Amino acid sequence: MKWLSRALLCSFVALGAGCASHSTTPTSPSEAAAQEAKAAPTAPLLLISIDAYRADYIDRGLSPSLQALAATGVHADSMQPSFPSLTFPNHYAIVTGLVPDHNGIVNNTMVDAELGKFSLSDRKAVSNGLWWDQGTPLWETADAHGLRSATMFWPGSEADIQSRRPDYWKPYDGKVTPDQRVDQVLAWLDLPPDQRPSFITLYFDAVDHAGHEHGPDSPQVNQALRDTDEAMSRLVDGLRQRNLLDRINIIVLADHGMASVPLENNVLIDKLISLKDVDTVSLGVLAGFNPKPKHDFNAIEEQLEQPQQHMHCWDKTRIPKRFDYGSNARVPQLVCLADVGWRITTEDYLAKHKGKISIGEHGYDNADPLMQALFVAHGPAFRNGIRFHSFPNVDVYPLMAHVLGIPPNFNDGNFGDVQGMLKPEAPAATH
Ligand SMILES: [Zn+2]
Repeated sequence: MKWLSRALLCSFVALGAGCASHSTTPTSPSEAAAQEAKAAPTAPLLLISIDAYRADYIDRGLSPSLQALAATGVHADSMQPSFPSLTFPNHYAIVTGLVPDHNGIVNNTMVDAELGKFSLSDRKAVSNGLWWDQGTPLWETADAHGLRSATMFWPGSEADIQSRRPDYWKPYDGKVTPDQRVDQVLAWLDLPPDQRPSFITLYFDAVDHAGHEHGPDSPQVNQALRDTDEAMSRLVDGLRQRNLLDRINIIVLADHGMASVPLENNVLIDKLISLKDVDTVSLGVLAGFNPKPKHDFNAIEEQLEQPQQHMHCWDKTRIPKRFDYGSNARVPQLVCLADVGWRITTEDYLAKHKGKISIGEHGYDNADPLMQALFVAHGPAFRNGIRFHSFPNVDVYPLMAHVLGIPPNFNDGNFGDVQGMLKPEAPAATH
């Protein structure tokens, strides 16, 4: 699923002007004092997401800048996404340390009894903090401990969550080029120490778009890998010029991988049940259905929970435990997960979207090899030139909190899983 419909987004004004930069405005004298008291730690932390950069893409040899960081830093065999392996749920899992079932972003499309419907293209929903406040993103924890944050795009960063936002953030706009994104990050690092952010995010989406449109094995994905690496190279050069390359901690990761889905691999849900009998929350890789008044939902569940071709369906209370999914009220009552390489759809949808059907997808079983994500880390906190074992992406949150020297909130991660990638002698940053 692509992140946002570009047409609906804030029109972009040149970087550094207009809507491009939003700083939190202190509203009371005590808050103003707290903002002023913010100080930069010895090493800033830059968290970079290359959406849908599957763990094995790096072996294609098309990402030389990333390979160089991996060779001189930490390179994990892979990082396991949380379930479902979708963009918003996983980006939020990474910055909260909570699996989607606990962080509240249970799907890219979801419903809440009080808030209504959430979808990626709904600007109002995406910027409404009430959707996001089941988790506390790292920029909030940083803020509470006197560190500044800046987000060059990240799901959740456009919302006022528990009355906090990153100090600097941008409304998502896919038209901002990778180079412009990099230049903004470098500009933030050029700010005077009393304004400079300590925690910065950077997001690239071209690899995901090419993967959906052309499939993971396409020349277009390879071109997107090259283009994204050029932006990475610009970043590394910019850091080197500033004598920052070895003084900044960088984590480069992805939210999930990508699987090829042939056009003919369709589970036609409308052939199995009448969609008039249910409230359909989502279709695609992970379909979700809620009961509809005056319709027999038990009969639907009984039918779909029988073994199905290329799909598994469960009542939310019976989802296999390893998915960590189903306790959140926003998870639909019945969920159906397509087998890797398949999509759950309807004849009507296929007819209406001829020529526009994605042939690359994610959202599948998060243990599947094709869903595994990139993880590379580099900088003074990290060991040099080591390969690391695979680990769940919720571990990144306590890792980042440690690197920033701030206490993590309650989370699903396990710092012990990832502690071994840190230099043993590196003390936590002090400020
Ligand atoms: Zn994604």
